[in-house]
Amino acid sequence: MNLKDTIRTIPDFPKEGIMFRDVTTLMTNRHAFTESVLRLAAPYQEILVDNVVGIEARGFVFGAALAFELGAGFVPVRKKGKLPFDTYEQDYALEYGTDTLEMHADAVRGQEQVLLVDDLIATGGTAEAAVKVLRKAGANIIGAAFVIDLPDLGGRARIEAMGIPVTTLIEFEGE
Ligand code: AMP
Repeated sequence: MNLKDTIRTIPDFPKEGIMFRDVTTLMTNRHAFTESVLRLAAPYQEILVDNVVGIEARGFVFGAALAFELGAGFVPVRKKGKLPFDTYEQDYALEYGTDTLEMHADAVRGQEQVLLVDDLIATGGTAEAAVKVLRKAGANIIGAAFVIDLPDLGGRARIEAMGIPVTTLIEFEGE
């Protein structure tokens, strides 16, 4: 099945000039959702994955399903202020200003094998911040998986330059 056709594009959301790739239409389609989770899992079926780490919020949807498929646990990486226990945190740059990602300090123990997941990689700034949080915790990041890649924005190359193998299912040209 052509997963790309199940993704809705909304021009000028949330602001002028952005082509928003709306993955909720893929999630709603049971065939597309199942296939996307199986395709994300395929490269990792023979490798020990202790935890899948999902980035808030759409990374939780794919990440939890992927964790179940791989027999792994699930760890949430969230925007600052949502997690109740001690955390590691990492600032990252947005177009205007900065934001902060957090992960519970005891969610990953040293040397655990983790797989990072989000719905989409654009500039890679969000994923890079998640990688830095995981490295603070001592995790061994065995890969990063995204449903959608916007290759013109360079995020995939940015994460690969950190020594992490990246898998993606669908590409859209442009921004
Ligand atoms: P980035 O940090 O630039 O790689 O942006 C990735 C994050 O922003 C992901 O969590 C995406 O869900 C969201 N995002 C960025 N660009 C888009 C886009 N064109 N359509 C939908 N979501 C996007």
